[in-house]
Amino acid sequence: MSVVDKLKSVVTGDDSLDETRFECTDCGAEFGSYKEPKRVSCQECLSREVEPVTKA
Ligand SMILES: [Zn+2]
Repeated sequence: MSVVDKLKSVVTGDDSLDETRFECTDCGAEFGSYKEPKRVSCQECLSREVEPVTKA
């Protein structure tokens, strides 16, 4: 798969079923969500200060 095709699959949401892991920078809780990163809030303390956890 070319880089362009890979970008297309991200933009078009072909991988939308992948759960993204997030970590709360306030309480340190880690959780999964299918939402867009900017719409995610911590499931423990409801903080909006969450960061996507980069997959290894
Ligand atoms: Zn939290």
